[in-house]
Amino acid sequence: MRRTADKVRQGKVYLVGAGPGDPELLTQRAVRLLRTAEVVLYDRLIPKCALALAPPSATRLFVGKREGRHSMSQRRIAELMILHARAGRRVVRLQGGDPLIFGRLGEEVEALRAAGVPFEIVPGVTAASACAAYAGVPLTHRDLSRLVILSTGHGKEGEPELDWSTLARPGRTLVFYMGHRRLEALVRKLIDHGLDPATPAALVANVGLGPASLVCAPLARLPHRVRGRCVEGPALVLVGEVVGLARGEGEAEQLWEQPAG
Ligand code: SAH
Repeated sequence: MRRTADKVRQGKVYLVGAGPGDPELLTQRAVRLLRTAEVVLYDRLIPKCALALAPPSATRLFVGKREGRHSMSQRRIAELMILHARAGRRVVRLQGGDPLIFGRLGEEVEALRAAGVPFEIVPGVTAASACAAYAGVPLTHRDLSRLVILSTGHGKEGEPELDWSTLARPGRTLVFYMGHRRLEALVRKLIDHGLDPATPAALVANVGLGPASLVCAPLARLPHRVRGRCVEGPALVLVGEVVGLARGEGEAEQLWEQPAG
């Protein structure tokens, strides 16, 4: 009897966004799914308090990057999800921010489809939204910016191949993920392609993970200002007239409550 019941129980994979790190920015759906998860596969930036929502009996598997290298190949991650789902388990694949943005959702969905494993995608608060909120910057503005570009600041082999002339046009907001280490090169490219060196820019780091930082400066001066600071944690670069509306650097720290744990 039991065996038959086990056999028919269908597993499922939930590809869930964990938000930027603050547990209060997890969606209610993410919380519900974590509470009933049997297996959780998670990345590097996932806070402990999110993992703690899963029952003690749940298997927790770290599948993230360590020091720029994948600790586990994408193929292996997909294999694990498929294996556990086929064994009838509720699998939560937890990624930082929104899995739809600079995550590995595309490859994972492809593998799950090919294997015929049912899955569901649960979006999360992406770093662009969280960092802009922290900085008090609207990403769009009726007078200043009618276009937002979310770009990577890091290519497979260092500098990304981007359409710099398109990026360097005025009247838009640029958001660079993974751009901190290549900040100087990013700024140079934008200015070389015609963006006004006085365009407001900011580096926003570690939002929701612990003490966050906000460094604002005209584009040309941003790398220098960042160098003079101790900026820790993942960071995002914002560029555009809207960044001129940012709160004062100290003010942002006071106004954003720190995550509970
Ligand atoms: N899927 C994620 C992005 C993964 S790429 C999302 O939607 O947010 C990782 C990059 O995201 C980091 O290099 C950094 O640029 C940015 N990032 C992620 N979490 C962040 C945080 N808490 N504060 C600032 N930037 C963050």
